[in-house]
Amino acid sequence: MRRWTVGDVRITQVVEMQNASPASFLFGDALSPERIGRYGWLRPRHVDERGRLIGSIHCFVVESQGRRIAVDTCIGNDKPRLVERWHQRQGGFLQDMAAAGFDPASIDTVLCTHLHVDHVGWNTRLVDGRWVPTFPNARYLFGRTEWEHWTAHAENDGTIDQGQVLADSVTPIFEAGLAQLVEVDHAVTDEVRLESTPGHTPGHVSVHIASGGAVAVITGDLMHHPIQCCEPDLGSRFDWQPEMARATRRAFLERYGARPALVLGTHFATPTGGWLRRDGDGWELMESPPLR
Ligand SMILES: [Zn+2]
Repeated sequence: MRRWTVGDVRITQVVEMQNASPASFLFGDALSPERIGRYGWLRPRHVDERGRLIGSIHCFVVESQGRRIAVDTCIGNDKPRLVERWHQRQGGFLQDMAAAGFDPASIDTVLCTHLHVDHVGWNTRLVDGRWVPTFPNARYLFGRTEWEHWTAHAENDGTIDQGQVLADSVTPIFEAGLAQLVEVDHAVTDEVRLESTPGHTPGHVSVHIASGGAVAVITGDLMHHPIQCCEPDLGSRFDWQPEMARATRRAFLERYGARPALVLGTHFATPTGGWLRRDGDGWELMESPPLR
């Protein structure tokens, strides 16, 4: 479990799973082994000895001004999924969350950066054959643009059955009266606000955190792997609009590379957080903040 302090804000990572996959899972045939090998700093944390990319699925619990905000809720247990390692999982995520000090009943806000399968899973859990809210005292914030898009395009592409994902992980939240549709610039507290970063999905947001002069940002899926800091034009095959995603990613890197800011990657393996440093046409992710 990792924890970061940003001014008065505390951020805790609760990991559901970390594993290595062939580069093709995220990037199709865009990345040759030679190209991955160009960036030695990615080993061994983000690239394994076989040249596979290491990724993570985790939730960030952001504590700000008395609020407990769970950002992205991973895959979840018991869910019928087309990707085998996500199908009918029986993981210990809630126990790990409790061990980190967060009883589900103590979470007052759930925030999904977008409505993909690996960001909404623990919104609900299976109780007596029904999907019920995992966080019964929380208000769940969903982007209005996301909700409108995915309800109109709940398709099955062979990897993800979006209709099933909405049915077991999002719709039950509306039925329980816990959902709130928000705009892409919504302020959760004075220290935590959404930042519009479209392209991966239509209403995708990142989460900007500023407190006591310090800044952090939770990427969401505008990037999936730190190699995209090195190569900002490299898009994942799950990007909805590749050109828009590319422009958003580059603007994001310019913005957070120009100042000391803790970048928390939503799918970055441990150590997950880092600071950007310009390197040629791209950026490198440093494990320590720059000296001031
Ligand atoms: Zn994701």
